[in-house]
Amino acid sequence: MKAEILALLRESGEFVSGQELCSRFGVTRAAVWKAIGQLRKEGYEIEAVQNRGYKLVAAEVYGENELRSRIRTAWAGAELHFHRITGSTNLLAKQAGEEGAPHGALFVADEQTAGRGRRGRSWQSPPGANIYFTILLRPDFAPDRASMLTLVMAHSVAEAIERLTGLEPEIKWPNDVLLDDKKICGILTEMSLEREYIQYVVCGVGINVADQDFPEGVREHATAVETVWGRRVSKGVLLQYVMEAFEKDYDAFAAAGDLSPLLESYNRRLVNLGRRVRVLDPKGEWEGTARGANARGELLVEDEAGTVTEVYAGEVSVRGIYGYV
Ligand code: ATP
Repeated sequence: MKAEILALLRESGEFVSGQELCSRFGVTRAAVWKAIGQLRKEGYEIEAVQNRGYKLVAAEVYGENELRSRIRTAWAGAELHFHRITGSTNLLAKQAGEEGAPHGALFVADEQTAGRGRRGRSWQSPPGANIYFTILLRPDFAPDRASMLTLVMAHSVAEAIERLTGLEPEIKWPNDVLLDDKKICGILTEMSLEREYIQYVVCGVGINVADQDFPEGVREHATAVETVWGRRVSKGVLLQYVMEAFEKDYDAFAAAGDLSPLLESYNRRLVNLGRRVRVLDPKGEWEGTARGANARGELLVEDEAGTVTEVYAGEVSVRGIYGYV
């Protein structure tokens, strides 16, 4: 009920009478008073005036109630778990996946002590500054499509940031979201198979929000949304926008069976497009010009002789020939 009260007060922007809250939620005045007290304890400033009721004085406390009051999607984030601190949200989601949690269950943390990137790399996850979440998915398509979800999520994150800030984030294939050619978001998708079927997929995302000091080695290629935008970002609103974008993008992707509905929009954001890239293939590195992603999420790279190779994200990374992009 706390999240619902919060949503109602925020929407109204005015005083809402105790009586209205009671009848809306079918509870006693004492129960409303208790919920208000708990929200205050969490840090919300709520004015209470006799005969007028309650009013939310602009406040946002990043946590479970804040997110529940904002995320009103049909399935993406409909079940939500918030942790102040955890090892990694992918681990939480995988565990819940084993225990039968539903499609769309969302795991959010304010700090990760063991945030991870691809191939065992680490993801800097200090408290207070950023968004870390993992969404659990139970797709009914074949396992070879699962790696495309990473591109779907990158697209959704870019859309959400653009909706909030008006900035135009770019995507470094397959799944890094960039502002000013620097990374603001990393995505790690992992899958569990049961025979030849997908049991579940977890898609983990870190978004750098607040201006911060990154450690050496990361600093060169990392930035944050507020650093580029120069204004404060509400993590709750950004996460809400990501869930809304992802629900729409995922449904379109699942209906089509590939990335075709998102492809034009994805390629428009592709930082690599038309640029020289170095393909870091374990079987041998090579260079070419990136021509865009295809509907399977592979990067088309053209070599000197004009031969176009479809590069599959599972095996390789791509870098600009002079640096990160
Ligand atoms: P690839 O192109 O193979 O995906 P990547 O370097 O983008 O390579 P990821 O697994 O996506 O690899 O992300 C992990 C890397 O991102 C780390 O090795 C580190 O360099 C960098 N990194 C770690 N934490 C952050 C952060 N909070 N913001 C930006 N970059 C980070």
